[in-house]
Amino acid sequence: MLNADLPWLQAPLAEALARARSHALLVQGPAGVGQLELAVKLAQSWLCEATAPGEPACNHCASCKLFASGTHPDFQLLLPEALDAPMRESLGLPFEEIEVKAGKAKPSREIKVEAVRGLLSFAQATSARGRAKVVVIFPAEALNGVAANALLKTLEEPSGVLRFVLASFDPASLLPTIRSRCQPLPLPLPERDAALAWLASKGVEGAEGLLAATGGRPQQALDWARGGLSDAAWQALPKRVARGEVQALSELAPPRAIDALQRLCHDLVRRSHGQRGQFFAPASLPTPKRAGPLLAWEAELRRASRHADHPLNASLWIESLVAQAQAAIVAAVR
Ligand SMILES: [Zn+2]
Repeated sequence: MLNADLPWLQAPLAEALARARSHALLVQGPAGVGQLELAVKLAQSWLCEATAPGEPACNHCASCKLFASGTHPDFQLLLPEALDAPMRESLGLPFEEIEVKAGKAKPSREIKVEAVRGLLSFAQATSARGRAKVVVIFPAEALNGVAANALLKTLEEPSGVLRFVLASFDPASLLPTIRSRCQPLPLPLPERDAALAWLASKGVEGAEGLLAATGGRPQQALDWARGGLSDAAWQALPKRVARGEVQALSELAPPRAIDALQRLCHDLVRRSHGQRGQFFAPASLPTPKRAGPLLAWEAELRRASRHADHPLNASLWIESLVAQAQAAIVAAVR
């Protein structure tokens, strides 16, 4: 069953269907708010055979059924290898797990030119069901340079009923020639109440705290909750780090650990200026008296984050990050 109906996407979907003029759209905005789901619902709606153009998909017609089973002949979903199985799974589409063999390269995080070339025959063929042909590319910044250039020509000369939806968290990083061929479609953060209701429907406890922790991104909050992070553990993190407790972070993967420290540092800098934190509850944060040590720490975290994907020794790396954090916080509250 297709799993792309996020409640806060109804209004953006209706607006996109009504306003889409270009044959190529670029959904853009923060991660964790349903960009891929919106792109997929747009595709399904354009292909739906029971509704008038400009209306959302009916979910029942033959086309919608093919779409939900992942076998619609007029739809192509282009994802980086590393995201292919998890994204299709989360959409409720069939997927094939990639076997990672020892000594073999990891699945790529890029969309490579071979994948784009694979699209070309789809782009040139006539539509199998006659309604439209749709390609969804997610995330567009995963297209490497060669792949982006290979895509340009097709994006430039759309053949009849072919439409594209690209989705991007970082549109500034796309080739300007790609951006300029697409009609932008901003997807902002959802309303807090809608996000909280959705998280509650997924059984997330402490949803308010986790939604704030993710900066208002419900899919990310759900991800964190399913990854075992509770609101209580999140709120305890600042004081545990301030005491130098390595265990506060050692259970997190390195990129997540550094992300948590960056959120903490950000909130402490705000507190030092007399503002509220964004990611942690007020009672969870120490009260810094000066920003200097925190700003120096912020710069160190930025440097460290460049190596977060491959630290040489993850546990040593976390230890040094916690020591650094503790020193900065102690100096700032003194
Ligand atoms: Zn339909």
